[in-house]
Amino acid sequence: MPERNLISWNSMLAGYSRAGLAHDALRVLREMHECGERLEEATMVIGLSVCASSGALRMGECIHGYLEKNLCNCMEKNSSNTMVNNLNCSMDGDLNYLGVSSKVSLRDSGSFDRSLALRNALVDMYAKCGDIMRAFSVFERMPDRNVISWTAMISGFALHGMGEKALSIFSRMQEVGVRPNAITFTGVLRACSHVGLVNEGMHFFNVMSRNYHIKPGLEHYGCMVDLFGRAGMLEYAFKLVETMPIEPDNVILRSLISSCRAYGYLELGEKVAKHLIELEPKDEGVHVLLSNIFAKAKRWVNVRKVRKAMKDNGIMKTPGCSWIELKDGIHEFLQGDQRHPQSRAIYEMLEDMMKQMRLRGYIPNTSDVWLNIHEEEKETALSVHCEKLAVAFGLVSTRRKTPIRVMKNLRMCSDCHCVLKAASKIYDREIIMRDRTRFHHFKDGYCSCKDYW
Ligand code: ZN
Ligand code: ZN
Repeated sequence: MPERNLISWNSMLAGYSRAGLAHDALRVLREMHECGERLEEATMVIGLSVCASSGALRMGECIHGYLEKNLCNCMEKNSSNTMVNNLNCSMDGDLNYLGVSSKVSLRDSGSFDRSLALRNALVDMYAKCGDIMRAFSVFERMPDRNVISWTAMISGFALHGMGEKALSIFSRMQEVGVRPNAITFTGVLRACSHVGLVNEGMHFFNVMSRNYHIKPGLEHYGCMVDLFGRAGMLEYAFKLVETMPIEPDNVILRSLISSCRAYGYLELGEKVAKHLIELEPKDEGVHVLLSNIFAKAKRWVNVRKVRKAMKDNGIMKTPGCSWIELKDGIHEFLQGDQRHPQSRAIYEMLEDMMKQMRLRGYIPNTSDVWLNIHEEEKETALSVHCEKLAVAFGLVSTRRKTPIRVMKNLRMCSDCHCVLKAASKIYDREIIMRDRTRFHHFKDGYCSCKDYW
């Protein structure tokens, strides 16, 4: 286009964000800024949500800085509601990570309070980018808060495994008389499940329908099944699934299966997995779980059968991908990735990491490697996991003592968890890692999840 206006830029930005192309969305935002285009509130809300979903903290901080400088103007400016309406669709996809529903307020464009929406987006962005204390400080300084603000803070603490803090925010919310909604309860229940607060979880599950007349949905049942399953209370989990009034979805059944695997109820897990495969023959996750169950039972023939079935049905295992944001943008790593220009330094760092670990008596945990390959090969496959590569890159390319923040699209494996714990001590670095479901803060050889994840 020979000329672009705010609408052209925003359309591109919203389009990329809707398509889940965070890097491109952030590039548009950067270009927009460089071209001297004024970033208005709608742009910044989308920008913040893209940062939140991709974990781009630096970019989020830039937007925050810009906001602090320009917030007054933003609030006074009478911008058209069309942009706000345009936001609806783009937000749906971006905030699905925790289901924080900024979209609820955006839909209600008539009473749209721009400054409040922006502050909510900031809380959400800092929480999802791993800086939970900054999220909390933005939250504490908010002149007023709506249900979305409270929910974002509760879900944020839940995401970081800070269950008690989440619950204390929830009780403050009730004290000031803000009525929680279904999403708030998802946050509360998730907070309980991440730290194993079984009694509290059961209590709030009841409170939700009894006191607030909110019918539990799939999300809530999912949290409860997860809560029981993680705590090893498989009977409760199964009973809940059998008695729930709505049909359990894949997510719930998969959570049951992985609890069965974790606690060694392999036959039971196998049964549920086969049932789910009948219902959803194309579900990638359940195939991987079933194969993991067989691998745990060392039934390699069955492992191969599952892999063959996946291949025959055209089901691909989603490749693990980790990324880290530095000054110059986002660097992405796949398993065994050697495409990075600094690949050599990264692998040397990795080598050093492994050497230091071995000196400290580390034995690689190969139980999560789902292939039937030779133990030694398994160790090599483990050592080049994408999150290890991203952390190694962080170690070689950032200054000493600065925290390393890494994001991953899948759940972290137990070996990486163990290695990153040790690395935080060996290299005296705080490592903050977001995987598919939550954050792990590694420091001095320990993880904030206390190995309950
Ligand atoms: Zn791993
Ligand atoms: Zn952890």
